[in-house]
Amino acid sequence: MNYKFFLGIGVAVAIVIAGAAVYTGFAHLNLADSAEHDTLYQVSTISALMQGVYDGTVTVAELKKHGDFGIGTFDRLDGEMIVLDGQVWQAKADGTVVPAADDQTTPFATVTCFSPDIRQATPDHAMNLSEFATAMAAQLPSQNMIYAVEIHGTFPSVTVRAIPGQEKPYPNMTVAAAGEKVHTYANVTGTVVGFYTPVFIQDLNTVGYHLHFLSDDHTMGGHILDMTVPANSSVEYDITPYYTVALPTSGAFTGTNLTANMSGAVAAVEQ
Ligand code: ZN
Repeated sequence: MNYKFFLGIGVAVAIVIAGAAVYTGFAHLNLADSAEHDTLYQVSTISALMQGVYDGTVTVAELKKHGDFGIGTFDRLDGEMIVLDGQVWQAKADGTVVPAADDQTTPFATVTCFSPDIRQATPDHAMNLSEFATAMAAQLPSQNMIYAVEIHGTFPSVTVRAIPGQEKPYPNMTVAAAGEKVHTYANVTGTVVGFYTPVFIQDLNTVGYHLHFLSDDHTMGGHILDMTVPANSSVEYDITPYYTVALPTSGAFTGTNLTANMSGAVAAVEQ
C-alpha cells in the first residue's frame, strides 16, 4: 500500500489503496490516466457522519473538480446528493429536487469520473434491492474492488428517503435518520447512481451497494431504500482502483471520537 500526502485546503490525506498495476483483469485500464479518472474522491468518513459531523467542509464547486458522478449529502445533513453527468442535485426531505449551488458544502460525499468498464445484465426476472445486491455481487469480477454503479431505466417502483437538515447540537445519524421522509414512486424513468464498496473499507464508507436515484425529469430522487429492478436491466460498473479521502482539518471532525466500529449502525441507517 502506498500513502501519499497532499497539502491543500481541506485535503489532509490521500490513500492509494490499490493501483491498477496490481490488477490485470481488464487490459484496457490505462495506467497513464487511471489515477486521474479512476479515483474515488471522498469527503470525510462514514464514521464521522454517523457521529453527527454534519458541517460541510468541501464546496460543490470543489467536488465537481474530482468527478462527474456520485452521491453524498449536504451541510447539516440537508437531503441527499446525486451527481450525474457533472451536475449536482439536492433531493430534499420535502420530496423536491433542486440543483445544488457551487457554494453549497458537503460533510460527506463520494464522486468519480464515470466511464464504465463492465456491463452486466440482471436476471430475466424483476428483483428488489436485496435480491439485486446478492445477484450482482456474485457477478462482480472481485468483491475486493470499488465500483461506481449506474443503471438507467424505467423502474416499476423506487422507494427513496431524504433526511431533513439538522440543527446544532447535532444528533447522531441514528437519531437524525429516524426523521427521514420516505417517498415511493411507481413506473419512474431515471438513473440509479452509486457505489459498491468492499467490506474492508467499512470505517471509511458504507459496505456493499450505496445507491441514490434521480428521475430523468429531475423532479424525484433520494437515497434508495428499496426498488424494483426490471428483468434484463443493464448495469454499468466502473472499476475504481484509486481512493482519495479528504479528511477535514478543522471543526467537529478533529475532536470526535472515531475509534468505535460503526458498521452495525451504518447498516441500520443506510438500508
Ligand atoms: Zn445515501
